[in-house]
Amino acid sequence: VFEPLAADFYGFAAELTDVEKDAIAKLRAHLEAEVKPLVTEHWEKATFPHEIIPGLHEQGVAAFAWDETKPFENSAVFRGFAALELARVDASVATYVGVQNGLVAGSVSLCGSAEQRALWLPKLASGEVIGSFGLTEPLSGSDSAQGLRTTARHEGDHWVLNGSKRWIGNATFGDVTVIWAKDEADGQVKGFLVPNDSPGFVATKIENKVSLRIVQNADITLTDVVVPDANKLANANSFRDTARVLRHTRAEVAWEAVGIAIGAYEAALDYAKTRVQFGKPLAAHQLIQDLLVKSLGNITASLALVVQASRMLENGTQRDEHSALAKAFATSKMRETVAWCREVLGGNGIVLDHDAARFFADAEAIYSYEGTREMNTLIVGRAITGEAAFV
Ligand code: FAD
Repeated sequence: VFEPLAADFYGFAAELTDVEKDAIAKLRAHLEAEVKPLVTEHWEKATFPHEIIPGLHEQGVAAFAWDETKPFENSAVFRGFAALELARVDASVATYVGVQNGLVAGSVSLCGSAEQRALWLPKLASGEVIGSFGLTEPLSGSDSAQGLRTTARHEGDHWVLNGSKRWIGNATFGDVTVIWAKDEADGQVKGFLVPNDSPGFVATKIENKVSLRIVQNADITLTDVVVPDANKLANANSFRDTARVLRHTRAEVAWEAVGIAIGAYEAALDYAKTRVQFGKPLAAHQLIQDLLVKSLGNITASLALVVQASRMLENGTQRDEHSALAKAFATSKMRETVAWCREVLGGNGIVLDHDAARFFADAEAIYSYEGTREMNTLIVGRAITGEAAFV
């Protein structure tokens, strides 16, 4: 049975239909039982809990977004709440789903032909195929609209890809990577579904992360990798098409940021109710209440923003600047919130035994990926001033 979260203080979940509420309740119960018990150990070891993949996919988490495979009523607000529930348990697990469902299935859904959608989307939804999204490069992050160095050359009935990618999530164990590369002929960015076992494709795990340690990020090198014409995304013909995918996923990352803030807030509130100092629970001290209430204010403002951004996606009025502001604002407020919540736990706020430390550390990567706060700010700045400050 669906229970609204106490952190959903103004009751935004009332927007969900009964079918959607049931799906969220099932997802939440599944995450509590099957995922939450595993995350601390995997975070410490920097390993991915592969055993969670089948169960996650059975919940439909990689089939939320795309009509062809939709198991639920599937509103954008529903998909947002699903991302929130995932992130509230663990930001890395939410990121796994964000890559598979948003970035990879999103690229196929928004840029693929009917045949490509029919071939790939059901496999991505079921988890039979695990995908990665390869945009960022060692020498090109924020400037990837202009700065990509990976090249694609058309020869006969195939393409030949050369270059390198950095930070690519799921790529150490996945099956296929959407590689964005510049066509040598027209200089435009195009997208390719590249099987990870292609000769010349090498993915190496990035070690020593202090954030999102469960996510397996890879450096990829592509050396004369041959990709058949059938694997070029039919409607990915310039960076504008990449940006269409990112517009959807950035709004989803904003929902993840709300989930992370809620996870940290719940950990802090629980702790504050039981830990006693100066003869009364922390929760009874005014300054602790201030931290908790400021956190709830951040969560509430961000939730209002992401709900409206999702409504706009539904009714076709969402533009790049709307998802960019949602991502920049919600991740900034998340960063502030996880620090306050960590503070409520004192010393215990920096050990993994209490969840606040994990949310605190993971928030840093969410703040920077899918467009940093600066880049998303500049996208909004361009929209409101008519001046592009980053070209
Ligand atoms: P840079 O672009 O080098 O930026 C460094 C700093 O300079 C940032 O603060 C940035 O905001 C600032 N800056 C840059 N340009 C400007 C400007 N014009 N004005 C003001 N400030 C500016 N990428 C993928 O393609 N696929 C993935 O699966 C993926 N997963 C990721 C997972 C993690 C954990 C992380 C950390 C990253 C991931 N990324 C992925 C890459 C991510 O999207 C980039 O890290 C991000 O876009 C920033 O690029 P960068 O790290 O190269 O930083």
